[in-house]
Amino acid sequence: MAEYIIGVDLGATKILTGIATPDGNILFKNKVPTLSSRGAADVLDRLCKSIETVVQQAGVDFNQISGIAVATPGPFAYPEAIVRDSPNLEWDYVPIKEELSRRLKRDIIVDKDTNMAVLGEYYFGQNKRYKQMLYITVSTGVGGGIIIDGQLYRGANGGAGEFGHMVISPDGPRCGCGHRGCLEALVSGTAMEREAAELILQGHGRGILACSANGQVGVKEIGIAARKGDSEARDLINRASQYLATGMANLVNIFNPEIIVLGGGVAFGLSDLLIEPTTAFLHKNIFSLHQEILKIELSRLGEDIGLFGCIAAVLHNGKGL
Ligand SMILES: [Zn+2]
Repeated sequence: MAEYIIGVDLGATKILTGIATPDGNILFKNKVPTLSSRGAADVLDRLCKSIETVVQQAGVDFNQISGIAVATPGPFAYPEAIVRDSPNLEWDYVPIKEELSRRLKRDIIVDKDTNMAVLGEYYFGQNKRYKQMLYITVSTGVGGGIIIDGQLYRGANGGAGEFGHMVISPDGPRCGCGHRGCLEALVSGTAMEREAAELILQGHGRGILACSANGQVGVKEIGIAARKGDSEARDLINRASQYLATGMANLVNIFNPEIIVLGGGVAFGLSDLLIEPTTAFLHKNIFSLHQEILKIELSRLGEDIGLFGCIAAVLHNGKGL
């Protein structure tokens, strides 16, 4: 009997669920809003409903599902599998694995979204070519995943990979975590939007504002303005590139990776403007020993990276994870 795997990428704004064959062919996907303000029980109920939807879409039976894995925003305590003090989901303490396993009446795999993403990239994006790999997502926030010697590295209790909270500029803007000048407070979509809004408030940023249909400016409008040659938009992106490269140089000095893969909405949306200056600035700031082996790439898995990670987690659970 054919076997299928279900992956769920639980995000702050949407729940993306997919059903796939073990070779990574995603057959059907379902996307519903997270609506985390309704509370954890409601979100988890809708997550289960979304699993039912893809099972029905694929026309398969529940006993043909060989495994279910869920990617969740952190902080995520491991191995207890508890989401703790999550700013994105506004959850204080949710034993997510236990709650979902009870609802679905079977054991499921849960891990932090960035851990799932780096697994997806390691197994499906790069096909295990690189044993020392870092993944950085630049999106509304900034996070990361670490592969060392071909194994996912979680740290002592699940807290490794918080690249977004590396302090890059101690006097910089306040971060959501409470500290100042974290990478996330400098290069995330939220940070770039804030910078553009400040420019406009000071009577500048006309080129960026002109790209907006409704007066709201986001990463998309900044990108459009920069592509039209607007110098303020270009400066804003170049500053973000320098901060991102500084963070990456710190990581290169610590981990000596073979590859750093970038993903997330900001990295995808601004890839033509961000990747090259970031790489150039990074290369100026690392030792030649690190540089000669290092590759920088944009993930080719797009928004499905979390789903691919879930598939990988089911396939390799207990075998090196
Ligand atoms: Zn922070």
